[in-house]
Amino acid sequence: MTPDELKALVRTIPDFPSPGIQFRDITTLIGHGDGMAHTVRHLADHARKAGADAIAGMEARGFIFGAAVSVALAKGFVPVRKPGKLPVETLGIDYALEYGTDRLEIDPGAIADGQNVVIVDDLIATGGTALATVELLRQAGARVETACFVIDLSDLGGAAQLRNAGVEVLSLMQFEGD
Ligand code: AMP
Repeated sequence: MTPDELKALVRTIPDFPSPGIQFRDITTLIGHGDGMAHTVRHLADHARKAGADAIAGMEARGFIFGAAVSVALAKGFVPVRKPGKLPVETLGIDYALEYGTDRLEIDPGAIADGQNVVIVDDLIATGGTALATVELLRQAGARVETACFVIDLSDLGGAAQLRNAGVEVLSLMQFEGD
């Protein structure tokens, strides 16, 4: 399936989770067998070309696509978790949201020094989550040069921010981010 056919499988829910947000819902994409398979194939092609040694995905929807790409390439998966979930001493990063802050954590032992870790997530909006993930993985010793997304809300500028941080950004489809 082409990226345009995949895009037609994404459902848009207006005013969720708050008024004015157009929520781009991947539930309908991942519930479609061919849609899921082709989405993962496109992402895995990007990650393979980028020379991934491992895949990192952010909780929760990054786990769906990241784990699938990791299986497709037979490379390890690094879960980037919400706080308090990992049972070991973690490396963490706090980052700003529109209102307040959030935190991501990883097990630093999951990354070998200099390993090329490719980030996979469902969607990039402002880029705050992805930038924090890049920083966290780099602090753990990873080389982070590529991030793959199913959806880019291109007018929100997240991809440009990642590129400024030296990360190549690949996305299967774009939507307006309003
Ligand atoms: P950001 O840190 O702003 O790039 O936001 C990234 C995360 O927020 C993504 O992983 C999405 O899961 C979620 N997100 C933000 N905006 C939307 C939207 N309009 N539709 C669906 N998910 C969104």
